[in-house]
Amino acid sequence: MTRFCTRFAPSPTGFLHFGHVVSACHARDLAGDAGKFLIRIEDIDPQRCLPRFETALLEDLDWLGVKSDAPIVRQSAELPFYHSILDRLRNENLVYPCTCSRTQVQAHAKGTAPDGSAVYGGSCRGKSFEPDRPHVWRLDMAEALKRLGGGPSWREFSGRTIVNRAAEFGDVVLGRRDNGVSYHLCVTCDDARQGVTHVTRGADLFEATSVHRVLQELLGFPQPLYSHHALALDASGQKLSKRDGAESLRALRENGHTAAGLMARAREVLQSRMIIPADRCADR
Ligand code: GLU
Repeated sequence: MTRFCTRFAPSPTGFLHFGHVVSACHARDLAGDAGKFLIRIEDIDPQRCLPRFETALLEDLDWLGVKSDAPIVRQSAELPFYHSILDRLRNENLVYPCTCSRTQVQAHAKGTAPDGSAVYGGSCRGKSFEPDRPHVWRLDMAEALKRLGGGPSWREFSGRTIVNRAAEFGDVVLGRRDNGVSYHLCVTCDDARQGVTHVTRGADLFEATSVHRVLQELLGFPQPLYSHHALALDASGQKLSKRDGAESLRALRENGHTAAGLMARAREVLQSRMIIPADRCADR
């Protein structure tokens, strides 16, 4: 039987809050005593990821009693690996360079993707490459889906098979301007390379899975099971977020909360499953 391998993959862009406790707890509990649980630092964004937040998140997880069963991987130390994967996609004519600015992308967007991002209008597709101009690398989604014969579904741990919506994302960025790689690329590569069998994460990343499944199939990576969990909400019913100033784990600790108490509260949140819309279930 395959040993469960799960991961918690925070980005050091701020202090951890209770929403992270829920995600970490979910991954740790699903791995159980017999499985393997990994912590991975997703720090590819050089503008937003700061060493002091990484130090803080490691301290916080330690306090919480959540420990990685293998040495912690930092994505910033793995850039050559991601670049080699991007090279593969480039050699297979599955990505193309795009010199559009953020403003141009917004102005010519073909609508909004399932994750809320702007769908690229495609003006750089088929243009000749000018390596000296700043550029990103975009996946040619139509070509990718043609080669795969459609968007690959995925399985949730709950047993549901989920319909893929990658076509609605359009040509997502796989190689950013600043470091040459992107979230979609790195997360897919790492989950495969680290042998993650169960990808656990919040419902807010549910839609991104469509893109990750496409990359997995293009690259011949194994298909993990997914377990998207319900999110911890604030008093007004909004998802807790660093950006909106959710109370940090360190503040909760200073205010007298215990690690055991927070883990117990996290398990209460995890009792309720993420509600998957009926039209996303292939097996309804
Ligand atoms: N690094 C992502 C975040 O902090 C999580 C990525 C994932 O779990 O797939 O939101």
